[in-house]
Amino acid sequence: GDLDTRVKVTSGDEMSYLARAINDLAQDLKRYRDTRSEFFANISHELRTPVTYLEGYAKVLKEGLYHTEEEKEQYLEIIDQESKRLTRLIYDLFELSKMEEGKVILNFEWIDLAEIVENSVQKTSLKAKQKGLRIQLNIQDDLPLVWGDGLRMEQILINLIDNAIRYTEQGEISVQLQGVDRDQVMVSVEDTGIGIPKTELPFIFERFYRVEKSRSRQYGGTGLGLAIVKKLVELQGGSIEVFSQLGKGTRFEIKFPTSSNGKESTP
Ligand code: ADP
Repeated sequence: GDLDTRVKVTSGDEMSYLARAINDLAQDLKRYRDTRSEFFANISHELRTPVTYLEGYAKVLKEGLYHTEEEKEQYLEIIDQESKRLTRLIYDLFELSKMEEGKVILNFEWIDLAEIVENSVQKTSLKAKQKGLRIQLNIQDDLPLVWGDGLRMEQILINLIDNAIRYTEQGEISVQLQGVDRDQVMVSVEDTGIGIPKTELPFIFERFYRVEKSRSRQYGGTGLGLAIVKKLVELQGGSIEVFSQLGKGTRFEIKFPTSSNGKESTP
């Protein structure tokens, strides 16, 4: 292809500098093109899978190819789950593409993270309870405010807690809000779940990246959650880190700058 044509580098003069620069650029472009087509291949695969399930089970039901009422219920349940997954996938894709084009509008204001953390835990507690998991909540008093978008903050936390619930079979989820130093606060979400292998940790924030594809399917999800979380954290001036031990559990930490420098009007 066009990008395979290399400019010949001869000696250490100006021309060879230029040649090297062009070669580097061509490499970058090729890498960009590769990830783009990989991205679209991923999207079509991710969209096709639930549609295949929907078609298959709808056909079975339509043609009465089931033996018991129980079996029928089971198929309906799969159809229900897969439609939800598809809806979520389309929504997530839309969110992510808007973010990557810089078209997401955040409504910044001074927010009290304690309130947001409490709301997020409340909204996820039913799901935890259904799985027999307890969510332990720990909030430090009188923390300074954070400049951010309350709804987006909640979206970040719900996503992390939802992951913690999905990837944990027993034990508990612990959510903490605390001050780190004078001008930072940290929210951590920790679980006693299946964990993530060390070698996979650097990739989990990439779009569609999942530790073991087949296993992840069983846990639900789209493979986009953490990519969205990371973007949202960064858009609000924060950072995110992950620590995990396979078979023991996982801990996500997000940190945000606070108002404690006394400038509550212009961050
Ligand atoms: P998914 O929708 O598949 O959960 P995410 O982007 O939210 O996608 O997460 C990416 C991958 O990281 C998941 O597929 C899973 O393998 C791993 N992962 C995320 N959170 C956890 C967790 N709390 N415990 C174990 N593995 C996790």
